[in-house]
Amino acid sequence: MRVARLYRLDDVRVEDAPVPEIGPGEALVRTRACGICTGDIMAWYIERKAPLVFGHEPAGEVVAVGEGVEALSPGDRVFVHHHAPCGECSKCRRGLYVHCPTWRSTALRPGGMAEYFAVPADNLARDTLRLPDGVDFEAASLVEPTACVVKSLRRGAVAAGETVAVIGLGVMGQLHVVLARHAGARVVAFDRVPFRLERALRLGAEAAIDVDANDPAASLSERTGGDMADVVIVGPGSIEAMELGIRLAGSGGRVVLFTTSQPDETLAVSPFRLYFDEVSLVPSYSCGPDDTREALELIAAGIVRPQDVVTHRFPLERVAEAVAQAQRPDEALKTIVVFD
Ligand SMILES: [Zn+2]
Ligand SMILES: [Zn+2]
Repeated sequence: MRVARLYRLDDVRVEDAPVPEIGPGEALVRTRACGICTGDIMAWYIERKAPLVFGHEPAGEVVAVGEGVEALSPGDRVFVHHHAPCGECSKCRRGLYVHCPTWRSTALRPGGMAEYFAVPADNLARDTLRLPDGVDFEAASLVEPTACVVKSLRRGAVAAGETVAVIGLGVMGQLHVVLARHAGARVVAFDRVPFRLERALRLGAEAAIDVDANDPAASLSERTGGDMADVVIVGPGSIEAMELGIRLAGSGGRVVLFTTSQPDETLAVSPFRLYFDEVSLVPSYSCGPDDTREALELIAAGIVRPQDVVTHRFPLERVAEAVAQAQRPDEALKTIVVFD
């Protein structure tokens, strides 16, 4: 079979690899679509794992199941999460799935950007979802990113009537706009790319502010009568964006850090300000099986729509172009690789 192996962001090759073998409790899936994640194009993050068959947002069709698998059979159309928890440890019992040792150790073999991948027993048992009829493979490739946003808004405790500021309007920012609106919040969006600002308005943001042409904090203050945001979603993993996020939060506000910084960076905060304004910093890392189920429901219900966020599609043989395209913020939101 063919796989896409990433050596560096500017060196992604289509190579031959054996179709993975499956064991008891596992399944073999023929990939039909796989999204390129923001994490896949963060050079410092992905290149330290290279070379690898990247891609963790696949959807496809079950072609074989191992001994003992009864819940799924060949022909089933599925979303498969690349990480799955054990469901039994102390972290899982508290719903902290991403901190389960099993969650971190599970992975699809060899990865999502391959014509076929093997689903380990843990992933198959606890985070492989059969697709409802109306959900196609392209839409299903949005389950994982949507689930990360579901979790982020839950961590931020977004409630109807609150003001949510979204910093960074790539695909994840746009999904935050859609789902914060769906939760009944007012959304003020921030970016510097005109195409992204326009898209956020179309998806329901009441204002989209160009951070190069305006003072973001002054603009938000004006729109909220000085109250600022109840929840701030900080999309980019930059210290600058995190600092802006803290500035945009009003009293009692929650600042959701949706993306990591690099390992050695530090963020200077004023405990005095955080204390008296009771501003919380809330990291939100990835998502768990409760989030993927909710995400699939949102997609099936037409709340999250591929046509709103998928801007580019490439076949596997053009995966290098797909990776390059995904890095062009001026024109790309979600880039996906489609398989035939
Ligand atoms: Zn992802
Ligand atoms: Zn666990």
